[in-house]
Amino acid sequence: MRAAVTSTRPQEGGPAKGAPVHLRAMSPEQLGELVQSAGFEPYRGRQLFQWLHRRGARTLEEMRNVPGPLREWLAANTALGGVAGADVTHHSSDGSMKFLFELDDGKKVESVLMPDTARDYWTFCLSSQVGCAVDCKFCVTGLNGFFRHLRTDEIVDQVLYARRYLHERQPKANFRNLVYMGMGEPLLNTVPVVESIRLLTSGEGVDLSPRRITVSTSGIVPGMIEFSRAQTGACLAVSLNAPTQEQREAIMPITRKYPLADVLDVVRRHPFAKNKRVTFEYVLLKDVTDREEDARALVPLLRGIPCKVNLIPFNPDAELPYGRPDEATINRFAAILAEANYTVSVRWSKALDVGGACGQLAGQKGQRASRRSSPSKASLPNS
Ligand code: SF4
Repeated sequence: MRAAVTSTRPQEGGPAKGAPVHLRAMSPEQLGELVQSAGFEPYRGRQLFQWLHRRGARTLEEMRNVPGPLREWLAANTALGGVAGADVTHHSSDGSMKFLFELDDGKKVESVLMPDTARDYWTFCLSSQVGCAVDCKFCVTGLNGFFRHLRTDEIVDQVLYARRYLHERQPKANFRNLVYMGMGEPLLNTVPVVESIRLLTSGEGVDLSPRRITVSTSGIVPGMIEFSRAQTGACLAVSLNAPTQEQREAIMPITRKYPLADVLDVVRRHPFAKNKRVTFEYVLLKDVTDREEDARALVPLLRGIPCKVNLIPFNPDAELPYGRPDEATINRFAAILAEANYTVSVRWSKALDVGGACGQLAGQKGQRASRRSSPSKASLPNS
């Protein structure tokens, strides 16, 4: 009766047929069915989910109230999934923590945990792919190319790992916001991203509010429609970055496949998070997208869309041919939008080595790793 369990769900970014089932990718109901199929009480599924998601268990041994025979069966027939380990860098200047996660095939992705200025809550920026195929010209992740999609369990476990790491050091910390703005284009890996949102908003687990979750896209039209239809309640951010088709094509070649007009049409016609405005992220590149005429061109372009605009002054990188506008230019750009009654904010922080609106993390390159100021091996036991 207790047979080895393999996945038969063929899905983008998910386990291939015949691959082991990863427990961290399963809902309480799915875990209940799994353990029941092996002859155990179905309520043990909820118990497992709570251990993995609410308490952030890294090993089966930690699950003290799960019977030994069930733990043995799980160890023999399933895998926990998730990340294999992490290097964590603490940035004392702003309190942020950067996680360099190692995956089971040796690939690496980055995430970052950032406190708000008063440290009342924390925002976690996570990755959805190893590398990225979209090739935005202002993004280091894009420079490195695409390796593979992340699985649902790998996406979810960035959160589980970082949340436990934070709470072991600051038990009362409010781990509140989630942004899919790390490595990769989330809406080229939509199914695992949507599954991860459903798992992370489960009341049995991390219990995040979907309204505190934002998925950022470069404008993948089919993915945006699929994301809207999934009705997760999570918010959408569009990495806009230029006011015309021609300018956007020059810095975001994906615009040739998904024209700017089509991207805005999807935003206008499809519902995203209820009562939440879409965010347009706009990277200000010196003398490229930061001119007054660019700001004035945005005004009619976004008219009629309930939205806010988040301006991101570019942080120069030795490998990228762009500069950062001066403060006066940034403020003038913001003022033009504000005068046209748009809600506009400027992301001044440099904590992330920001290179783009999504894919804003540094990317997996030796010189990036060597820039880290005080790396420390994370102390959580790894599965
Ligand atoms: S900005 Fe985002 S979509 Fe563009 S290359 Fe970087 S990670 Fe990919």
